[in-house]
Amino acid sequence: MCGFGWPGECVVKGENDPLASFWMPFTANRAFKANPRQLVSASGMHYQSADGRAILDGTSGLWCSNAGHCRPEITEAIAKAAATLDFAPTFQLGHPLPFELAQRLAALMPDGLDRIFFTNSGSESVDTALKIALAIQRAKGQGTRTRLIGRERGYHGTGFGGISVGGLVNNRRAFGGGLPGVDHLRHTHDLARNAFTRGFPQHGAELADDLQRLVDLHGADTIAAVIVEPMAGSTGVLVPPVGYLQRLRDICDAHGIILIFDEVITAFGRVGGATAAGQWGVTPDIITMAKGLTNATVPMGAVAVKRELHDAVIESAPGGIELFHGYTYSGHPLASAAGLATLDLYARDGLFDRAAELGSYWEDAAHGLKGQCHVIDIRTIGLVAGIELEPRPGAPTARAMELFHACFDNGLLVRATGDIIALSPPLIVEKTEIDEMFRKIAELLDRID
Ligand code: PLP
Repeated sequence: MCGFGWPGECVVKGENDPLASFWMPFTANRAFKANPRQLVSASGMHYQSADGRAILDGTSGLWCSNAGHCRPEITEAIAKAAATLDFAPTFQLGHPLPFELAQRLAALMPDGLDRIFFTNSGSESVDTALKIALAIQRAKGQGTRTRLIGRERGYHGTGFGGISVGGLVNNRRAFGGGLPGVDHLRHTHDLARNAFTRGFPQHGAELADDLQRLVDLHGADTIAAVIVEPMAGSTGVLVPPVGYLQRLRDICDAHGIILIFDEVITAFGRVGGATAAGQWGVTPDIITMAKGLTNATVPMGAVAVKRELHDAVIESAPGGIELFHGYTYSGHPLASAAGLATLDLYARDGLFDRAAELGSYWEDAAHGLKGQCHVIDIRTIGLVAGIELEPRPGAPTARAMELFHACFDNGLLVRATGDIIALSPPLIVEKTEIDEMFRKIAELLDRID
């Protein structure tokens, strides 16, 4: 059988392994292919594995299927769009769907961020945001401001911009020098002072002053923008310390630096509300999004920009094209239709309220793991949890990876990142499913060395 792709009879000529051709992203390919764990269908809170088991989705796929899987409202909208207008360019032409989606999205953003640029992924959103920030500074007559600042343990996708401002050496090591003129703030992870915090950690706001130090070091007139995830998800659920984000905002304001929040994970209900910025009351100049925008059904990202900053770029251009940037699929009809249907579903089912409704139950359930073998920290915010394990001596990350595999084999999808297990279930999760997740993790922790 060929069409469904598993297990395939279609093999590359001279190649016996049907899994060999797909070079998998961010995967230990040899280990996976020696013991493949595959998903073949999904519905609501569950995947189905290739060996016919229901897998409870504790991670919304990859932090993205926020409304749960295969929602008919979305899949039908995609099918209709595909049959009506499969593709139309958005370079010098338009079609109605992305205009409508941009307007709907703008209404969900914090006040003032109502100009929307469409991309196809989080990585593209980040690179787009960095380029827009540079274009804004130049449009405002601040063309010497070219320096970009990220943060240690930041994850901003895999474009050259994203890996440069990102704070993960493995993501950069093999790929040359990255963008010039990039610097980094220290990360805010502080087990010694903040372990087992519920919600925002008390300690660490002063780490935002690293930005002031970089201003003192390099000169504000060289710095275009700073980018941070309001909550760092991919590097292990690092919740911002009380006051940290506001302090960054204040320093940016004092020095004309553009503040970018990378909300690829935190937008669309993950921490409650449409964005972390709106929920936590700190307004950046630019917000990047992707993932939950279409409930991950069709790849799409977006960048929301403050109107006056957008206008500065538009008005500074002598005429003709104002921003030499874009993607063939910016505002793709299928993605736009998926986005509109997804936003409808979020609103209809009140999914952005779920983090508040379930937050304390979630927090209690997660913190119930305190005292379990290997657990050295538990962090929760919204419908996110990070469970940090003590690294196995001489084999960092192995313990979390074993737990990830054990969970999968026992019907639960979690995410392993370093020595941390991250949980971020679809926002439709029920209390019984929360109980099931943490019960399974507790049982399996006991079985791991
Ligand atoms: N930015 C953040 C904060 C992310 O978490 C991710 C992915 O997890 C990205 C950017 C990259 O998104 P993508 O994988 O869609 O390119």
